[in-house]
Amino acid sequence: MSEIPFKGEIRRDYITGSDVIFTFSRDKRPKDFKNEEVIYGNAEDCPFEYGKENLNTTIKLIGEPWRLRLMYNKYPIVNEETAPYKNEDFFTKYANYGHSYVVVDTPNHTQKFHEIEDEMLEKWLELVAEGEKLAYSDKKIKQVYTFRNNGSISGGSLYHPHTQIIGLTFVLPIIKQELRIIKNNGGKCILEEAVKKEGKRILIADENAVALAPYGSRFRGLSIIMPKRHISYVGNLKENEIKSMTKFMKTILSRNQRIFGSHSYNMIFHELKDDKDFHFYVEITPRFSSFGAMELSGVYMNSLKPEDYVERFNEAA
Ligand SMILES: [Zn+2]
Ligand SMILES: [Zn+2]
Repeated sequence: MSEIPFKGEIRRDYITGSDVIFTFSRDKRPKDFKNEEVIYGNAEDCPFEYGKENLNTTIKLIGEPWRLRLMYNKYPIVNEETAPYKNEDFFTKYANYGHSYVVVDTPNHTQKFHEIEDEMLEKWLELVAEGEKLAYSDKKIKQVYTFRNNGSISGGSLYHPHTQIIGLTFVLPIIKQELRIIKNNGGKCILEEAVKKEGKRILIADENAVALAPYGSRFRGLSIIMPKRHISYVGNLKENEIKSMTKFMKTILSRNQRIFGSHSYNMIFHELKDDKDFHFYVEITPRFSSFGAMELSGVYMNSLKPEDYVERFNEAA
């Protein structure tokens, strides 16, 4: 008799109130990163290569042969097959229902994200927005979390450049926290205030978008990129904003490489589609170490002041 595969569940830790996603199927996923070492991963074993399209169900391909691919994640963090439920008790648990999509950013296994040509990167952001819209078309979805894990310390498991789009039935704690700060500010936009006040910590700006290194950066070399226009999620970006934001991403990632050498990083989309007070932005966080006990407490330590990072950023031009 074959075992029924476990589709996972979300349990609430009754000590800290944190929600924990249990997804045992993910243990079986392929891993390019082992023992803290960056291994370039063997393209031959990589599931995102040409000719291996049957391993993951395609949603959309861009280009002929394809240059960008939107697909279902074979190893989902949350999945569509679980029926939504919630038991609130001493032992609270609910379904890890949701959508897990992947965008393969380039067919080229070793191409760095910032080496992708401008036009394809703009199409990448459009495809991400399309994936998000698909997830949001499910009325049960409250928030889409889009991110790129790049490198062994980033939490990524595959070397091949890719983006994950996760449709969730709940709003993530970090986004709730940001929303509380906005509401405490009388609903006034924190990011637009920051653009006016940050001055020397502005990295790049044009008529459509701004990138800056925030005053209280949680990590060395952290930057945020936002459209100047107040929009709540990536799906509302206009063509010129897509151009500016992807250009800024490229500039930041390539200069970060010059400043820090080869390093892991996370790229994270912060958004809340249905809250008009929320201002969409993308965070790029270089990662040099895994979390220690201090970080696990929710307090971060940073050895590079953002204004010093901006100085190095300008020198790296
Ligand atoms: Zn590959
Ligand atoms: Zn705003």
